[in-house]
This record gives sequence, structure tokens and C-alpha cells, in this order.
Amino acid sequence: MRIDLHAHSTASDGTDPPGALAEKAVAAGLDVLALTDHDTTAGWETAAAALPAGLTLVRGAELSGRWYGAEPTVGLHLLAYLFDPGHGPLAAELARVRHSREQRAERTVALLNDGGIDVTVPEIREYAAGGTVGRPHLAQALIRRGLVGTVGEAFAPEWLGRRYRLPKADIDAFTAVRLVNEAGGVSVLAHPRASSRGHIVPDTLIAELAAAGLWGVEADHTDHSAADRAHVRLLARDLGLRVTGSSDYHGTNKTVRLGAFTTDPSVYEDLISTATGTVPLVGASRPPTPPTA
Ligand code: AMP
Ligand code: FE
Ligand code: FE
Ligand code: ZN
Repeated sequence: MRIDLHAHSTASDGTDPPGALAEKAVAAGLDVLALTDHDTTAGWETAAAALPAGLTLVRGAELSGRWYGAEPTVGLHLLAYLFDPGHGPLAAELARVRHSREQRAERTVALLNDGGIDVTVPEIREYAAGGTVGRPHLAQALIRRGLVGTVGEAFAPEWLGRRYRLPKADIDAFTAVRLVNEAGGVSVLAHPRASSRGHIVPDTLIAELAAAGLWGVEADHTDHSAADRAHVRLLARDLGLRVTGSSDYHGTNKTVRLGAFTTDPSVYEDLISTATGTVPLVGASRPPTPPTA
């Protein structure tokens, strides 16, 4: 079984629509794919409707979390799986963060305009195409202007990485873990040692999140060195957390391939037997389309 528990579609900052993503997962030899768009479940329905035979879809999301207990505060990403999307308080938090992302995009456009760069809000909205707005959509505008060559370059300190980086109103990390659990889901801390984001998530904080109900932690990830992966595994063992590995595929917005990292089947079995908010969906084989006369 090949299991990839972290992928993005056009419902956030990936470049493949949910249905095409599911098809690509099959082509990549995956048996299980989790759809984890940033702060939204908007892609769930389309992915479920287009689910190819042989693929199991784990519906999830990647929550923008933040620990406000230190100065500077610590941003983190929390993968949430198989939660009830109708859980009011969780859905409200996701909507609040998406709204904050819209406002951040507008303020970033204004800041870029002040810097003499003539990007516009409607243009950014067009790139986001109704999905959760993120910095990769601002990156597209910089690429179109020829100011940077790639999305990765757009995250350099002189661009969206620092100079034109503005905060959004992230979900308190402990609230996020609690709400995911209340909604019947399980939570996994994504890429805790991805230092390219400017910081790592401190082990002491991971220990506190574990005590507060965090279920697992992502060890195998493209932004983790071999030493990072080994460190996360040891920490997880000490804290009783499950360990996952995933691609964090974003289509052409990142260079990583679907299925580049995978999760152990025993961890997946544990996940699906723990979650109660919703079920994995299994793609049914469809009868062949009758020939048209
Ligand atoms: P946001 O959540 O809108 O602040 O944007 C963060 C997103 O930007 C991440 O989820 C990644 O998809 C993307 N990202 C962050 N750093 C990089 C990078 N160095 N290269 C490419 N994409 C990145
Ligand atoms: Fe992303
Ligand atoms: Fe992430
Ligand atoms: Zn991600």
C-alpha cells in the first residue's frame, strides 16, 4: 500500500483541480491520497465525485495555526483528517482564517503597489480561482511581471518571504487541536522542522500539543533533512505520537512529486480506526461507458 497523506489542489494553492489530483495519484501508483487544502474543505466534494477506481480518498485540511505563547509567535501547520466538516466551531475558525487571508492579500497588494509593483487584487483573485488565497497566488503575479522566475524565488526575503510578508489571523494551535478532536478528526503536525519558513516548531511546544491531544507528526517531508527526520522520529517515540510521511504536493507551485514520501500502512490503519468525523472514500469501479451509436 502506498499512502500519501498531504496534497493540495486548486481549492487552495495547488495547481491541479481535485479530480485531476485524484487521477494523478493513481498514475503515481498511490492507493491512498489525503486532500489537505489550506484552511478549507471546498475540494472534498469534487474529489469525491471524481474518485477513480482503486484510490481511497482521505478528506482533510491543513490548518494555519499559531502559538501565541512566545515572542515572536510561532506559526505552524496542522494537518487534520476525517473530521466532520459540519462541526460549527471548527468550520467558523476555517472561515475566519480564509477571510483573514483575503485581507492579507489585499494589504500585500497595497504594499507591493507602494514598492512600485503594479499588481492588482482582481488579478490575485483570478489566480486563486475561488480557492483559499495564499502567497503562491501573489507569487504568480510576480512571475508574470518577470520579477522572479519561480514560486520558490518569490519566497526570498526581498519578496514574500520577508519584505512583502504580512501576518494573517491564524488559529491558536491548542484551539485547533481541540476543535479537530471535537469534530471527530485526528491532527498531525506538518513539517515541524521546515526551517525555510524562518523558524522551526520547538520540541517543548510539540510536547505540549501532544499532551493537548495532537495525534501525530510529519517526519518524512521534502523540507526535512535526514537529521530532521531522525529527530522527529525520536521525539515522536518519546511523546507517543504517530509518524507520517507525505509529499505536500502542490502541482507546479512546488517541485515535489506526488507520492515522493509515504506513510506506513500500520499508521494509516491506526488513523482510520481513530477518526470518527467522516470516513475514507473508496473509488468504485464504474461500468464501462456504453458506445454511442
Ligand atoms: P501562506 O499560507 O499563504 O502564507 O503561504 C504559504 C505557502 O506557500 C505554503 O503552503 C507553500 O505552499 C508555499 N511556500 C512557502 N515557502 C515556499 C517556498 N520556499 N517555495 C515554494 N512555495 C513555498
Ligand atoms: Fe501551500
Ligand atoms: Fe504546510
Ligand atoms: Zn501543505
